[in-house]
Amino acid sequence: MKERIKKTQVIVLKGMDYRETSRIITAFSEGFGKIKLIAKGVRNPKSRMSAALQSFVNSEIVFYKKETRELHLVREAEMVEYFGGIHNDLLRFNYASVVADFLSSLLATEQVSKTLYQYSLFTLHRIDKRKKKYLPFTLVSFLLKGADLLGFRIELEKCKVCEKKSSLPLYFSNEKGGIVCEVCRMADSAAVEINKSVYHFMKTVQQQKEDGNYKEIETEDFRKVFLLLSNWFNYHSHGTLKTLDIFIKGKPFNLYNTDRKTVPNLQG
Ligand SMILES: [Zn+2]
Repeated sequence: MKERIKKTQVIVLKGMDYRETSRIITAFSEGFGKIKLIAKGVRNPKSRMSAALQSFVNSEIVFYKKETRELHLVREAEMVEYFGGIHNDLLRFNYASVVADFLSSLLATEQVSKTLYQYSLFTLHRIDKRKKKYLPFTLVSFLLKGADLLGFRIELEKCKVCEKKSSLPLYFSNEKGGIVCEVCRMADSAAVEINKSVYHFMKTVQQQKEDGNYKEIETEDFRKVFLLLSNWFNYHSHGTLKTLDIFIKGKPFNLYNTDRKTVPNLQG
C-alpha cells in the first residue's frame, strides 16, 4: 500500500477514544482538507502528542498519508496555538463547537480550501478573545461566509427566481437558494417569510468584509437567523448541526444578556 509522509497545519475538530490508548481524530488541515487520523498511544500519560491533538487546537502534524484508506496515522504532533478562552469558558466553547460542527459536517473528505482554513482560524481567534457581546455576529459571519466558500451561498440581493430587486415581504426558499419575492413565492410552497430585521441583518453581514455597522437586533431575531441557517445546512448536508440547537433555544444569549432584550449595537 502506498503511503507518503506529509506535514501540515490542522485545526482539530473532534476526537473519540479508540481501543486502550489511541484516539481517532477529525481535523481540518490546511494542505489536505478534512482528514481522519489515528493517533496511537496518545492517551498514555507519557504521550507528547496528546496536548496537540485536543479539540480546538491549532497544531502542526506529520502523518503517513495512505492513498487507499481514509484513516491516516499520525507520527508527530506539535501545538502551534492553544485557545485558552475557548477551553476555559463555556460560552466561548459553545461558539467554537458550532464552527467545528459546521466544518466536520459540511466539508467533504479531503476537500481543500485554504481560504476557509484561514477564515476558520481567524474566527477561532475572535471567539477566543473578543468581547462576548460580539460573538453572535462573529458566528453568523462565519456561517454565511463558510456556506459561500463551500459553494452554497445564500442569495440575499435579489429574488432567486425572477432576479428582480424586491421589496418586502420577502420569503426564504431552501430549494431556490435564497430569497424569493411575493410573486415568485409560489415556486416553492415551503418558502417562509423572513422579517425585515432578520433580512437586513443577514444582508449586512454578508456584504461586509469586516463586521461594522450592525443595527441592533432583537435576541428573538438572532434565533430566527440561526434557525434559518440551521435549515439551510440541513438542506445541503442531510444532517443537522446539533450544536446550533442551543443557539436556537436561546441559551447563549441568556448567559450574558440577562438584563436586556437586544444584543448591543457593535459600535457601542
Ligand atoms: Zn421574484
